[in-house]
Amino acid sequence: MHEFGHVMHGVLSNTDYASQAGTSVERDFVEAPSQMFEEWARRKESLSLLPQFCSPACPAVDDDLLGRLSTARLYGAGMRYSRQHLYAAYDMATSGAASTEPLALWDTMEGETPLGHVPGTQFPGTFEHIISGYAAGYYGYMWSEVLALDMLSVYGTNLMDPRSGAAFGARYWRRAARRRRQRWFASFSAASRPTPRSWPRLRARGPRPSH
Ligand SMILES: [Zn+2]
Repeated sequence: MHEFGHVMHGVLSNTDYASQAGTSVERDFVEAPSQMFEEWARRKESLSLLPQFCSPACPAVDDDLLGRLSTARLYGAGMRYSRQHLYAAYDMATSGAASTEPLALWDTMEGETPLGHVPGTQFPGTFEHIISGYAAGYYGYMWSEVLALDMLSVYGTNLMDPRSGAAFGARYWRRAARRRRQRWFASFSAASRPTPRSWPRLRARGPRPSH
């Protein structure tokens, strides 16, 4: 779903120059649209449309099912965010002034986490972001979630509202790459000045487990 969000980011871009389309935005703005689109895979107003396109045998999307989906998604969330923190810390450590042997550094840092390091695994060999321009910016994923949830507020309680979609499109798909992120948010909403401290409030707006 997240990668499909990147596809949508590129497909919906409406800029004069290709170099300003898709993810050609400020680094901490690259992930925000795709993270925002993830919400369509969680909300009732979009998921309840599935039976129109799937087999009649598909289960109805009701509050009970959504509650269980949300519970499953939030299971281990602390572990997931801790892992994200580890990735960011490793990213920062490898981008520092001190010369380090990447695998030895990873073994040490992962070894200090509750789950520890599994001998023989070599996660850094698959950590493509670290050499693809993110540099010491991998921490941005958490920040992007703040931005994504704030951007989502334009839809209110109905992600399928076409007027909200058009309003967002006019503001984002055409203009985001041409503006500094802070200025774009200022134009987006006078009340919309997300900070890292906004995360719990914004996350709490989303679907919560029903039990
Ligand atoms: Zn992404």
